[in-house]
Amino acid sequence: MNLHDTERMSSVLQEQGYRPSEEVSDADLVIFNSCSIRDKSEQKAYSSMGFLKKDGKKKNPNLKIGFAGCVAQQDRDQVFQGAPHLDFVIGTDSIDQLPEVLYRVENGEKKVLQVGFDPSNDYTLETKILPGRSLAYVNIMKGCDNFCTYCIVPFTRGREKSRRLEEIVQDVKRLVLGGVAEISLLGQNVNSYGKSLGGKKAGQTFPALLRALQKMADEMEANGTTDSTGRTKKPIGLQRIRYTTSHPKDFDEEMIECHASLSRLAPHLHLPVQSGSPKVLKRMKRYVPIELYCERLDELRRRVPGISITTDLIVGFPGETEEDFQKTLDLVTRIQYDNVYAYTYSPRPGTAALQYGDPIPEEVKKERHARLMDMQTSFQLKKNKTLVGKVEMVLCEGPSKNDPEVATGRTPGWKVVNFSVPDGVKSPQELEGKILPIKITDANSYALKGQVDLV
Ligand code: SAM
Ligand code: SF4
Repeated sequence: MNLHDTERMSSVLQEQGYRPSEEVSDADLVIFNSCSIRDKSEQKAYSSMGFLKKDGKKKNPNLKIGFAGCVAQQDRDQVFQGAPHLDFVIGTDSIDQLPEVLYRVENGEKKVLQVGFDPSNDYTLETKILPGRSLAYVNIMKGCDNFCTYCIVPFTRGREKSRRLEEIVQDVKRLVLGGVAEISLLGQNVNSYGKSLGGKKAGQTFPALLRALQKMADEMEANGTTDSTGRTKKPIGLQRIRYTTSHPKDFDEEMIECHASLSRLAPHLHLPVQSGSPKVLKRMKRYVPIELYCERLDELRRRVPGISITTDLIVGFPGETEEDFQKTLDLVTRIQYDNVYAYTYSPRPGTAALQYGDPIPEEVKKERHARLMDMQTSFQLKKNKTLVGKVEMVLCEGPSKNDPEVATGRTPGWKVVNFSVPDGVKSPQELEGKILPIKITDANSYALKGQVDLV
């Protein structure tokens, strides 16, 4: 979501005539987009912002500096006290007001603060992506009403509001006409999509949205599409629909049915469980019977063989005993996830879990985290090795971060694949946005290696 907010800001700025600069030192405008999900990310935001403090404006008197995102929302005007070199602070619900904020800054207003939440019940939007993108993040809702006791999101992103299903379908259609092949639907708990719009009675539910998107994409593929000049063309079409994040309490039979019946829904489920201990889950206000959670995933695997399943886990939540932690290890062994994003607990301001303190020493948290990840990476390696020799359809995202000569992309099951550029293609950039058959030749715990399958 944070990544998409950055993309949205870039897009709003490009509409205003701004262009990206290669080096921060060449820029006339720098915006730091911050994340406050853990203390570490918050500290990172503050320390990276500090580096322009001393001489940024001396070198370039036109330089304007802004601070955005969840830390900005959380700390608001206090941010200016620690960072007087900032020109503006803009909150999570104000990205569309960026042009006005910049106008005020350009006209000499100092320390502009724009951090309110939109008070209306409606949430409408046109997804903005950068030119040439074949993968688009689409916000279907914003905010969160769950208040898991460790989590700052309900405070930094406000109350839950959904966009109307019909608006989202039209938005995605426009994106697909523009060349988008994959969409990722974003919400903190996508399963509660539509509640603010009347839910089931009003036909505004997440499964209904998935079915409507599949139908729209099927029709576009069957009929071709007429553009504004009256020409009918066949765009590459919507190949994959992804979503994040789903909540275990709401992942039900209907969702399993969607995965089994909708061909465009990617075979990947990210279902964050956070812990394997019922006691810890209750204290997190995230209780779901672990046996039911496992049964639903078993059923999903029966109906969609080979589907990737990933999760988030928090280690060292207050009160987590060695026995509780062992329950998390047991769950990880039982489910055999394709990937696990594990974090050590970090107390966050304003959250309910603050009442429990932070009693687990950092070394214990780190040791448990390392044990968990050792176990998980060995499972991941085994799973990834089973893909060697298989052909996966990979949406190329351009050059790999580690090696600009190598192309990278993801399988339908969300696994990273690095592959060599075939003869006749000059660079990985040329393949960006294309869906290619890649034969998997090797695998480690985190990524697959392959080559374009020309046969
Ligand atoms: N809405 C999603 C959900 O409910 O799963 C994800 C929200 S959060 C942006 C992403 C992940 O950060 C969470 O699933 C959790 O594992 C982790 N997280 C959130 N708050 C945390 C905290 N205080 N300390 C450590 N990890 C945290
Ligand atoms: Fe945070 Fe829980 Fe909402 Fe996810 S569902 S954003 S973890 S409060």
